[in-house]
Amino acid sequence: MKYRYLGRSGLKVSALSFGSWVTFGDQVDQQVAYDCMTEAYDAGVNFFDNAEAYAGGESEIMMGNIIKKAGWKRSDLVLSTKLFWSGDGPNDTGLSYKHIIEGADAALKRMKTDYVDLIFCHRPDIHTPIEETVRAMDQVIRSGKAFYWGTSEWSAVQIQKAYQVAREYGLRPPLMDQPQYNMFHRDKVESEFQPLYDDIGLGTTIWSPLASGLLTGKYNDGIPEDSRLSMDQYEWLKESLLDSEEGKERLRKVGELADVADEIGISMPHLALAWCLKNENVSTVITGASKPEQVQENMKAIDKVNLLTDDVIEKIESILDNKPDKPQDFRPSDD
Ligand code: NDP
Repeated sequence: MKYRYLGRSGLKVSALSFGSWVTFGDQVDQQVAYDCMTEAYDAGVNFFDNAEAYAGGESEIMMGNIIKKAGWKRSDLVLSTKLFWSGDGPNDTGLSYKHIIEGADAALKRMKTDYVDLIFCHRPDIHTPIEETVRAMDQVIRSGKAFYWGTSEWSAVQIQKAYQVAREYGLRPPLMDQPQYNMFHRDKVESEFQPLYDDIGLGTTIWSPLASGLLTGKYNDGIPEDSRLSMDQYEWLKESLLDSEEGKERLRKVGELADVADEIGISMPHLALAWCLKNENVSTVITGASKPEQVQENMKAIDKVNLLTDDVIEKIESILDNKPDKPQDFRPSDD
């Protein structure tokens, strides 16, 4: 495994990490979850991602139990959770001071840990003043319940604003965002965030590197029975990924990308994961898996990055045909 600094911080995260969305609590049982996590840990993964929303809190409970059962040293792990959705009550969602403080406490209890290393605002909350959210995150960190805080799927402008508020009031600024990043979804990481890497030292913990499995090629001949997109509760994901003209186009491109993978002698999952790893602004690629064999395969992608030479990247770009033109400058001009 290789380890990268999380943005401009001293924290090292494994370049490939492991998360529990869809799988823990909804798709796999405790034993399979244990086997997947230990497979990842044995491959050198130190960062494990979670959220209060995953399987209604069950995912955090499973991860906490697995860590206890495995007997891993807490200081060897970088654990995260994300706050935004925890229930149906008026204060169970969003980024109010109340929800962040109470949500963090509840998550720690479920995960059976005194602190998480990273805590994220799972989405932006346009109804809560940014200063309230920044103060709440600062408080969570000052009380030792988390070490670093960040955002997920915030815009560059929203992150910059949180950073400025924190600096103005002497509070802890956000360190990282958790954006989607994969061959089909790249504008934010490659363009919109570009100024933030230098300006505020933003780190990124990117999600859905295999776009929920589509980039493994497993959906090119239909929908396998035991796959994510065959699950009733993820019908919406199937619709958004496969069931449109754009979806058909994606499948066609995956077919062509498979030829590139063949040419250099690697699998499609390896090609898609190595492509994400090649981006130096990606601090860690959060992988997901429903089977330990998938984890075993995915972790080997770390050794394939050097096979993506300039020629290979050029072939990939010509198939994808979606490279963002140039970084978008979101800052207001002087005139
Ligand atoms: P991926 O795009 O990598 O999809 C993972 C899924 O693809 C697996 O569960 C499995 O599904 C399939 N798969 C994985 N490896 C293989 C393989 N080698 N061969 C065949 N199929 C494979 O990542 P996720 O969408 O799971 O996202 C990763 C993590 O990112 C999440 O667990 C979560 O921690 C985080 N995340 C964060 C979000 C946010 O809003 N901040 C949103 C979404 C995710 P199956 O076997 O069922 O087909």
